[in-house]
Amino acid sequence: MKKIFFLILFFLVLYTVGIINALNLPLLGKVIYIDPGHGGKDPGAVVNDLYEADLNLEISLKIQKELEKNGAIVYLTRYGDYDLAVKNAINRKRSDLSRRANIINRSQADIYLSIHLNSDISFKWKGAQAFYDTVNDKNEIIANIMQEQFKKDLNSDRQYKQISNHYLYNRVNIPGVLLEVGFISNINERYLLKQESYQKKIALSIKDGLIIFFNKNSKS
Ligand SMILES: [Zn+2]
Repeated sequence: MKKIFFLILFFLVLYTVGIINALNLPLLGKVIYIDPGHGGKDPGAVVNDLYEADLNLEISLKIQKELEKNGAIVYLTRYGDYDLAVKNAINRKRSDLSRRANIINRSQADIYLSIHLNSDISFKWKGAQAFYDTVNDKNEIIANIMQEQFKKDLNSDRQYKQISNHYLYNRVNIPGVLLEVGFISNINERYLLKQESYQKKIALSIKDGLIIFFNKNSKS
């Protein structure tokens, strides 16, 4: 009898702990698609021997980790140094972008985030920035939230901005944004972007932004 009592108590504790854990997982059940920009034959912006594509992937993997810790189901459009273009595509870039759009659309994820770095011929520009296409009316809300996070967490003084007719973002109909998480062309920011600790800071900032978005979104 005593044994049964303790067994019941044991499972009751397990059950309660389970509920508590679920409450601490604000992104539980959310499906998030992360799109690390470029890859393979397309390195993106290159400064010295530093490829944007490599940093995009490193940062995306950190974002994946933080989101999964909070209960999300996360997919990446690429997990290594390759692009998504079909073999022998005449226009490799278009083929790559069109496949990214198809994969993200078919996934029916709750949200997508495209991760890139900015670059400019002028070295002075710096700061993380969110861009949105009006194809989905939630996109501007997400861009706004993300920009606020970047201001708060990454000291960015940039404003979120609309983009139109971009070959990729124009084709993705689920909610999402392009995040240029810093300027590879700025010497100080380039130094930061290479650091694991700063990459994690970016990931945490984006994670917090997503939690804010999903909280707002479930109430509206
Ligand atoms: Zn890029």
